[in-house]
Amino acid sequence: MKVALIPGDGIGKEVMAEGKKVIDAVSEKLNFEISWNEYNFGAERYLKEGKTLTEDDLKELSKNNAIYFSAIGDTRVKPGILEKGILLAMRFYFDEYINLRPIKFFEGVQEILKNKKNIDFYAVRENTEDFYIGIGSNEAKKKHKDEFEILRTIYNVKFNLDIESDKDEIAYQIGILSRKGCERIIRYAFELAKRKNFDLVTGVDKANVLNFYAVWRKIFDEISKDYINDKIKSEYLYVDAAAMFFVLKPERFKVLAIPNMFGDILTDLGAGICGSLGTAASGNINPKGVSMFEPIHGSAPDIAGKGIANPVGQILAGAMMLDELKKSDAANLMIKAVEYVLKEGKVRTPDLGGSAKTADVGNEVIKKIKEM
Ligand code: NAD
Repeated sequence: MKVALIPGDGIGKEVMAEGKKVIDAVSEKLNFEISWNEYNFGAERYLKEGKTLTEDDLKELSKNNAIYFSAIGDTRVKPGILEKGILLAMRFYFDEYINLRPIKFFEGVQEILKNKKNIDFYAVRENTEDFYIGIGSNEAKKKHKDEFEILRTIYNVKFNLDIESDKDEIAYQIGILSRKGCERIIRYAFELAKRKNFDLVTGVDKANVLNFYAVWRKIFDEISKDYINDKIKSEYLYVDAAAMFFVLKPERFKVLAIPNMFGDILTDLGAGICGSLGTAASGNINPKGVSMFEPIHGSAPDIAGKGIANPVGQILAGAMMLDELKKSDAANLMIKAVEYVLKEGKVRTPDLGGSAKTADVGNEVIKKIKEM
């Protein structure tokens, strides 16, 4: 199978080397082949050629079965250019509407929440709608007209905005939720709970204040009727209450269905309560298309080049990718090896209190894979 490799910027390149190495080791052990196609998308190319992702780049990427991505971001590039031009461009082009984030505490990682080691659930974040569709302005004047056209696989929408205000500086952002967009992600969350034998799906929104989330809640209600029985229950939480339970009672969660923006925030909180940004992985999934897998951290310019970044999130993102590519045995082997290394605690990067280098962790995980 063909996999696109995008190491990106900063520590992205460092952790990607380990992720690739581990996948190569597991594929050798279990006797399957990955053919890697590496692409140099990121800050260097943008600074040299002024390009983020072109239509041709996206077509080229679509020849792969999956995309293994690391992180982008560079202090020399204006914030937002690479994120929108590369990361969001891929998510939208490939309609990767599911952002799947396992939120799991690994034994051996410093406990952040006292006596809360039993954290093991999935956040299913909608990945293409809400306030992240790009309709907004930070420079609307007293009289201001804006036109936006959103072209998506599941719908096209046009907004013609005519703004009049008695003040100079108005900023605005508009979000969209579509029935189809809500249905497909909420259904995925219930299917995941069914597949994993989980007994609770939690729908998160802010329907009491932001009108359009009432649609999310209505559709969550409709879909839950197809699934709830004596094994699976459902509940709603407003996002503020959900945030509180992430900290006070995270063990109550199994699968959460969350709209895009709140999902963005809660999933980082999820990584935080598990002890490290460096161990969390994420899948941007289109079950019928090209999915992309990445650690949740960024390019970490503060530690880039020192060889001390934690590669665990990148390695676990690789395991998620293999699982999606129907290589679950390989994925499970990688996860077990990582769990073993973290629990053993001999080889840890500084973010986890150790003094190991990025490559030491990759080598140790490979050693365990070979022994298992
Ligand atoms: P960041 O995730 O890069 O770093 C936040 C903090 O966590 C830093 O102190 C960093 O050293 C530490 N950290 C992150 N990953 C680590 C790892 N694997 N091991 C050890 N420590 C780790 O977030 P930021 O500093 O807000 O952003 C830096 C750049 O990354 C920005 O340009 C931002 O836009 C970009 N970014 C990209 C992505 C992505 O590509 N998906 C995600 C987030 C941020």
